[in-house]
Amino acid sequence: MSIRRPCVLSLSGHDPVGGAGIHADIEAIAAQGLHPLSVITALTVQDSRNVARVETVPPGLLSEQLARLEADCDIRAIKIGLLGDPAQVALAVALVARLGVPAVLDPVLRAGGGRELAGSSLESAIREQLVPNVSLLTPNAAEARRLAQVAPDADADACAPVLLARGCANLLITGGDEPGAQVRNTWYRPGVVPRRYSWPRLPETFHGAGCTLASAIAARLAAGDDMETAITSGQSWTQSTLERAIAVGHGRRIPGRH
Ligand code: PLP
Repeated sequence: MSIRRPCVLSLSGHDPVGGAGIHADIEAIAAQGLHPLSVITALTVQDSRNVARVETVPPGLLSEQLARLEADCDIRAIKIGLLGDPAQVALAVALVARLGVPAVLDPVLRAGGGRELAGSSLESAIREQLVPNVSLLTPNAAEARRLAQVAPDADADACAPVLLARGCANLLITGGDEPGAQVRNTWYRPGVVPRRYSWPRLPETFHGAGCTLASAIAARLAAGDDMETAITSGQSWTQSTLERAIAVGHGRRIPGRH
């Protein structure tokens, strides 16, 4: 009898630079010893500085891919990144409900280079349909403010009660996009004192750090770690990839995941 390797299913966009999106997810999941399954939600035109264009993959094609994988593979966790339109959000919600495995959502609303990646209908579909149904949400501070609909200069802590009230079980707000000599990440859960993590801010800027973190945590959950262990070890592994980040273009560095 064959023993199938446990898999993590990544539903993410393709970044040809290989810093963010599905490249990041595949490398981060494989580095944790799990097999990555990759379903590509969108093709992008971008370089290491910014995104220029996004072309969404038709949801019918994604459904066919998912049906094959679900029937064939041992899927232990799901990582969701860039989604192209509200129809893909509905598909992701149904997938999470069907599989009943941990699902980590890295809500991609804007590229680090500044390009807007979610129109208002996509943003509200993510907020209303997906946020309440995932095991862990990993926005950066700016994304958390947008999803919580608080002022752009509000303290990141102000987002937590709003997002948790929506039904989000675990919220990890990352502070890589905030100022300060330390990057401060905070894990919020309903009824529990927030847990704060602090990492030395490295001198460079990075492309794909958020995807790397969310995928590493999803893989740790798939491997059987509890949420606390997965969040802690996912962050320390991601920090190590930033310490050995590489330049592949003229813009931001990409995490050194292998
Ligand atoms: N392209 C894709 C496909 C992504 O998924 C993301 C972020 O998740 C980006 C680009 C932007 O990445 P960053 O903000 O790290 O530059």
